[in-house]
Amino acid sequence: METRKLYYEDCHLQAFSGQVLSCVQADKGWEIILDATAFYPEGGGQAADRGTLGNRQVIHVFERGEQVVHLCDGHLEEGALAEGCLDYAHRFDLMQQHTGEHIVSGIINRRFGYHNVGFHMSSDVITIDFDGVIPAEALPEIEAEANMAIWQNLKVDCFVPSPEELEKTVYRTKRALPWPVRIVQVPGFDSCACCGVHVAATGEIGIIKLLTTVGFRGGTRMEMLCGKRAWQLMNAAFDQNRQVSQAFSAQITETGAAARRMNEQLAAQKFRITQLERELFHSTARGYAGKGDVLHFETGLEPAAVRDLADAIADECSGMAAVFSGSDEAGYSFCLVTRQGDLRQLGKDMAKALNGRGGGKPQFQQGRVQAAKMDIEAFFN
Ligand SMILES: [Zn+2]
Repeated sequence: METRKLYYEDCHLQAFSGQVLSCVQADKGWEIILDATAFYPEGGGQAADRGTLGNRQVIHVFERGEQVVHLCDGHLEEGALAEGCLDYAHRFDLMQQHTGEHIVSGIINRRFGYHNVGFHMSSDVITIDFDGVIPAEALPEIEAEANMAIWQNLKVDCFVPSPEELEKTVYRTKRALPWPVRIVQVPGFDSCACCGVHVAATGEIGIIKLLTTVGFRGGTRMEMLCGKRAWQLMNAAFDQNRQVSQAFSAQITETGAAARRMNEQLAAQKFRITQLERELFHSTARGYAGKGDVLHFETGLEPAAVRDLADAIADECSGMAAVFSGSDEAGYSFCLVTRQGDLRQLGKDMAKALNGRGGGKPQFQQGRVQAAKMDIEAFFN
């Protein structure tokens, strides 16, 4: 006997009672079939409903022929009436995402002629794959039109037309379907063959937010969110922006400009620091004029600056310049520079003795050692 599909009669039905027609133990639980159910079985890109049946958890719901099978974590008496209770927050979320997806797919089909060839709404964001390239610049207009469909609070029409009516009905479909075909229409926006459960009117979707598009298999993968998920993402993004606004003392609509200004200031300061360091390095180097081999420690230098300082000292000292920067705990960056001779063997010996790694050219060795200042001094003495 075909299960009466209450989810098609009333998409808002959260609780119902059904008679247990059969209850059979299977691998992963008990397969329970009722005379009628509000639990939507997995299908059409929409996940199965969750909830409870009697005092049992509904683990999964699927179709077998014309019957809906509830996989439950326990047994129910055949012939008894069972109270079904849906996890309605989960169901409503899926309806918001699914009807929103239809509206967006319908708009893109009309504007570009592309088809939705893949739809996933299981993870945090929902993705739709289209078989054509949608320019990113088109997103704001598509999104505006999609939200217009929400503000008009249009009744979503779900029906199974007669074979004659079906021939006259225009609808999106992935492939030719045998009758009966269930059609879901958002008047003026979309007409599509679909077995999913949808909101009763578009106002229930709340909001549609298109997030990104990327090229995917010659077409476009679009990320979007509807309803509560969109609202939650916007809250999270707003909270981040509020923190940025406080950190920059900028209006919340001016944070982008404030961040760009900060980057420019940082770049200018970095340039100035490099100039000052260079002057400082030359002054340090002059202090080693004619001193022969030099071992020098300096705190807080980037590896590039270690190299600049070693270079400057090598110009003055008439020997080898060995510069180290860091700490006993974190280790030291080093640079060895000479104007004559070959430092490669020394570099190897040092790596071995001071737990280091590095390399370079005969007159230039650079790298890191994990050793204490004392040990470095002992090595060079
Ligand atoms: Zn659908």
